[in-house]
Amino acid sequence: MSWTLSLAERVQSLKPSPTLAINTKAKVLKAEGVDIVNLSAGEPDFDTPDHIKEAAIEAIQDGFTKYTPVGGIPELKEAIANRLGHDYGLTYRPEEVMVSTGGKQVLYNIAQAILDPGDEVIIPVPYWVSYPAIVELAGGKARFLKSDPARDFALDIAALSAMITPKTRAMIINSPSNPSGAIYSRDDLKAVAKLALENNFLVITDDIYDQIRFDGQGPEDIASIVPEAQDHVAVVNGVSKTYAMTGWRIGYLAGPEELVRVATKIQSQSTSNPNSIAQKAALAALAGPQDCVRRMREAFLERRDRIMEMLRAIPGISCTEPKGAFYVFPDLSSYYGKGPAGHKIEGSLDMANYLLEEARIAAVPGIAFGDDRFMRFSYATDLKIIKNGMDRLEAALGRLG
Ligand code: PMP
Ligand code: GLU
Repeated sequence: MSWTLSLAERVQSLKPSPTLAINTKAKVLKAEGVDIVNLSAGEPDFDTPDHIKEAAIEAIQDGFTKYTPVGGIPELKEAIANRLGHDYGLTYRPEEVMVSTGGKQVLYNIAQAILDPGDEVIIPVPYWVSYPAIVELAGGKARFLKSDPARDFALDIAALSAMITPKTRAMIINSPSNPSGAIYSRDDLKAVAKLALENNFLVITDDIYDQIRFDGQGPEDIASIVPEAQDHVAVVNGVSKTYAMTGWRIGYLAGPEELVRVATKIQSQSTSNPNSIAQKAALAALAGPQDCVRRMREAFLERRDRIMEMLRAIPGISCTEPKGAFYVFPDLSSYYGKGPAGHKIEGSLDMANYLLEEARIAAVPGIAFGDDRFMRFSYATDLKIIKNGMDRLEAALGRLG
C-alpha cells in the first residue's frame, strides 16, 4: 500500500540551499568530464594550512575522539574570546561564547532561540541565501530592506527605520557581504546600533568574511564601532572562509549570556558538540600563526582586480567593486529579453541555465539573493579559471545579440 507522508507546514515552501545545490551540480559535471568553469563555489580553493591539519591528526592520535562540552572545549572558547579581543577590542567571558557546526548552525540556533511565530527579522537585500530560510524555519517572518547598487549597496537607514515594528526581533548584517562584497560604513552601523538600542532588537552580525577585506582596514563590526551596543549584538563567525576550512564545520557565536545559554541548550537537544577533532583544528587556526590569512587575502585581492577588469570590458554589464569577501555581483539584466525566439532570457534563473548549458559556466542567479537583475560569480578560484570563465561569459553574452 502506498501512502502519502504528511510533511510539516513549515517545510512546504522550503528549498534546498541554491549555492550548495549549484556547486554540487558543477562538481558532478566536472567529475563526469564536462569542461565546466565553476564560479559558483562559496569556498576558498586553497587547501587548509598544514599546521591546522597537523593539529587534527594529533587530536585523532591522542584519542580526542569523544563528546566534548556541548558549546565547545574551553580552550577553543578562550581562543575565540582572545581573537575578538585582539581584532575587535571586545571582551567576552566564556559564558558568552559558543562553538557550533559552522556559522550556519550558529544562525539557526539564534533564530530558534529568539523567534516566535510572526516575529520579524530585517534582512538587507541582497542577502546570503540561507537567512530567510533560517528565519522562516523558526516561524519568523523575513522583512527585506532594499539597497541601491548605485550607492554600493549601502544600508538605507531611513527605510530601515520605517520598517521597524513592535514585532521586530532582529536584524542580520553581513559586512563584507555575500554576495555583493559591500562593507557598511561606520556611520550607517552607528545608526543601526542606535535603532537597535531604541527599539530593543538584536543585531546579528555575520562576520564570516571579516578577514577578507580590501580596504586596508582590520576587522570591525557594529559591536566594535559602538561598544555600548554590545549587549544587543550577536557576533557570528567561523573558520570556514578565513582558514579555508569549509568542510571542517566550525563556527561560533559571541553574544549576550542569555542567548548563548539558550542556543547551547538547543544545540544539546539537536546536534550536541561540534566535531571534537575539528575543534582542535579550529584552535590551531585561531591561536596559531596568521600569515596564511594574509597570503589568502592578497590572492583574493589580485583575483578581485582581475575579474573586475575583465567584467568592465564586457558591454552591457555594470558591477559595483566588491570591498571584501570573494564574490562579484554584476547586473546582467540588460541582456534580459534577448536570445532566440522561444528561448529568451527572462531573468537570472534563465541566465544561469543559459550560462551553464551554453558556456559551461556555473554561477548563482541573483534571485537566490533577493535581486533578479544580478548573477553571483565567485573568484575563490585560480586566475586561469577566472579568465577562462570571463572569456566564456563575454562570448556567451555576445551570442545573445
Ligand atoms: N554566512 C555567510 C554570509 C556565508 O557566505 C556562509 C558560507 N557558507 C556562512 C555564513 C556559513 O558558513 P559556515 O557554515 O561554513 O561557517
Ligand atoms: N556560503 C557559501 C556560498 O554562499 C557556501 C554555500 C552555503 O553554505 O550556502 O556559496
